[in-house]
Amino acid sequence: MSIVALDTSKSRDHRATDQLPRSRVTLVVPVYNEERAILPFVEAIEALRPDLPEGVRLDILFVNDGSSDGTEFVIRSLVARREALSLVNLSRNFGKEAALCAGLEYARGEAVVPMDVDLQDDPAALPGMIGLWRAGAEVVNARRRNRAGDSWMKRQTARGFYRVYNRISDHPMPQDVGDFRLLDRKVVDVLLSMKERVRLNKALFAWVGFRTEEVLFDRPGRNAGRTRLNYARLWGLALDGIFGSTTKPLRCWTYIGSAIGLMSLLYAAWVFGATLVYGNPVPGYASTAILILGFGGLNLIALGIIGEYVGRILTEVRGRPLYVVGSSAGLPE
Ligand code: UDP
Ligand code: MG
Repeated sequence: MSIVALDTSKSRDHRATDQLPRSRVTLVVPVYNEERAILPFVEAIEALRPDLPEGVRLDILFVNDGSSDGTEFVIRSLVARREALSLVNLSRNFGKEAALCAGLEYARGEAVVPMDVDLQDDPAALPGMIGLWRAGAEVVNARRRNRAGDSWMKRQTARGFYRVYNRISDHPMPQDVGDFRLLDRKVVDVLLSMKERVRLNKALFAWVGFRTEEVLFDRPGRNAGRTRLNYARLWGLALDGIFGSTTKPLRCWTYIGSAIGLMSLLYAAWVFGATLVYGNPVPGYASTAILILGFGGLNLIALGIIGEYVGRILTEVRGRPLYVVGSSAGLPE
């Protein structure tokens, strides 16, 4: 199962319903070992009903990302008792980005909102987002007014990442917007048609464009358990984001190489001239050692960066699916 094919029949359906008021919104919620967070999330969403614009129907699609605790059991028992819930069960833990892609593929809403289950993406922001969508926005970003709920370290590393990414990339990502945003069906279809395997969803969301509005919300702390995304995983995501959507780190070596080549030429001319004029004094160990170490280091850095790209090209060429669905519940056939 892959997320690649753009289902044209679905797009046609969408165009036919374009004139009707937009109503169905699917919340896509990736979950990994979250048995204690699921019920509070569902209840928070249900409590929202009176605040929603007239005629809007919310449904929740959980993507169980290979949890080893009772997550699947909890969701299945809720799905059995509630209309608007469904579950896609991945065959193992594929990571949040892949789980989110699975959710976008299976979501049937006219708009889709990726959300974390831990209530850090405050459901209270949803009515405003849906209102803007109905008024014509195709993407509605939920911007964090503050990130008091995240640790100091997390805020700093995130800031560093955005700074680096936005300097290198041609399509900057907004600083304080996570995956929590409303995407119109049009946008989702475009995302699904993008076949790449190395994906940082936020980078793809920024790339597709569309008419974008914004709401502000306060990001609280996690409601149960601890973060499932440790720094090693975040580092991997950051590298995927940078090397998956840019080429500037490759090109910079053309300039660095040219500059060093030019300087080497001047230095060589000087050494040559000095040898002719002053003879060949033997000392020269220091400059030789410095040059060998310096250029060896630069070569390795350049090789490492090329390696980052080559490895990702291999991932793309292999063409393995981004995720594998093991089973599902509450989805139409
Ligand atoms: N998540 C997932 N797969 C993973 C790790 C996390 O589906 O491998 C889910 C997790 O259950 C949660 C969301 O992704 O719903 C965000 O995770 P978390 O809250 O741990 O990240 P943080 O808010 O600390 O960035
Ligand atoms: Mg969280």
